[in-house]
Amino acid sequence: MINIDPLQTGGKLTPEARAALIQWGDGYSVCDFCPGTLDEIRTPPIHDFIHDALPEFLGIDHARVTNGAREAKFAIMHALASRNDSIVLDGNAHYTSFVAAERAGLKIKTVPNSGYPDYKVDPEGYATIIEEIEKEIGKLPTLALLTYPDGNYGNIVDAKRVASICHEYDIPFLLNGAYAVGRMPISARKVGADFIVGSGHKSMASSGPVGVLGVTDEHKDKIFEKSKFFRAKEVELLGCTARGATIMTLMASFPSVVERLKHWEEEVRKAQWFSAQLEDLGLKQLGDRPHKHDLMFFEAPNLYEISQRAKDGRYFLYKELKDRNIHGIKPGLTKSFKLSTFGLSRSELKVVIDAFDDIIKNMLRHCYSPD
Ligand SMILES: *Cc1c(COP(=O)(O)O)cnc(C)c1O
Repeated sequence: MINIDPLQTGGKLTPEARAALIQWGDGYSVCDFCPGTLDEIRTPPIHDFIHDALPEFLGIDHARVTNGAREAKFAIMHALASRNDSIVLDGNAHYTSFVAAERAGLKIKTVPNSGYPDYKVDPEGYATIIEEIEKEIGKLPTLALLTYPDGNYGNIVDAKRVASICHEYDIPFLLNGAYAVGRMPISARKVGADFIVGSGHKSMASSGPVGVLGVTDEHKDKIFEKSKFFRAKEVELLGCTARGATIMTLMASFPSVVERLKHWEEEVRKAQWFSAQLEDLGLKQLGDRPHKHDLMFFEAPNLYEISQRAKDGRYFLYKELKDRNIHGIKPGLTKSFKLSTFGLSRSELKVVIDAFDDIIKNMLRHCYSPD
C-alpha cells in the first residue's frame, strides 16, 4: 500500500534495520560485553555511534540514545527543574512536551499561534511570554522549547531567532526535532540550541520506541549526572535506555538516514507540488505557504459535504482510499486531516492525487444523481 500517515512515513525500516530487528530481537541482546553503561558498549559498536556519529549528526557536543523523543525531553526537564520552575512552549507544541513538563513539575506557558489558517508562531512571542512568567512567578522560566516543525501543520519557525531571544534572558533552549532529525538537515549548533531531541521510530527509519538526545557541553554535567550509588549509571537515563533491538535498528538505518537528508530539497519540492495538486481539487492546505515540510494539514469542505450523504458516512474516505491501496488518513476524518509525502515517489503521489480526484468526482455524481 501507499502509506501517507505522517506518523509512519519516516519510520519505515530499511532492509538493514529489518535484519537487525531479527538478529537482535532477544531481550538484552546488546549487553554481552557491557562495561557498565549502554553508551560504553563497544561490541556491537554502540559506543562509537553514541559518542562519535550521533553528536556529529545532531551538531552538538554530546548525545545519548533514549526510549523516545518524549523520554529525552523529560530527562532534560527533570534534570533542570526545581521548585516553582516553569517552561515556555510554542503554541503548536506536541502533547508529549506538555506531559513531560507536567511530570517534571514545571508550570507551563505557551507562545500562542496566529490561529486559522496559518497557525504561525512568532519568535518574538517568546520574549513576551518569558517576561509574563517573570512577572507572575517572580522568576525566569527554566527552559524554553520549540517544536520544529510541529506535528499538526508542519510549520517551520525561525529557530535561530527563538534561540537568540532565549539566550538574551539566559534561558536554555530545547529544539524538539521529532519531525526533523532524520528527515531534514538540522544542526543544534547552527540553530543555537542547548538541547535537541529526535524520534527514531518517527523519523529515523527505526523500530521504536527509540529516540535521540543531544546536549551542549555547558549542560552535560546536569543532564548526565551519575548515581551516588552506582557510579557508572546516569540517573536521568535510569542507568540504561534502549537496551536491545531498538537501538540496533537505529544504528542499522543510520547510514541510509544520513544519505536521505541529501534529498531534503526534493522532498520539499514534492510536498509543494502535491499540495498544489490537492488544492486544484478543492482542498486547502493550512499552515506555512509555500510549505517547507512533508507534513501537511488539509481542509476538505468538499469531502466533508460528501460524507454527509455517503453510505459509509464519515468513514467513506478511509474506505475509498483503502480500496485504492492508500493508507494513512485517520478513519472517520473528512473535514480536515494531515498527511505526509515523505519518501514517496512522484508516481506514488500521483496515484494519491488521482484517487482524491476520482473519489470527489464519483461520489459527487453519486450523491447528487437524481434517482
Ligand atoms: C511524534 C512526536 C513526539 C513523540 O515522539 P516519541 O519518540 O514517540 O516520544 C514528540 N514531538 C513531536 C512534535 C512529535 O511529532
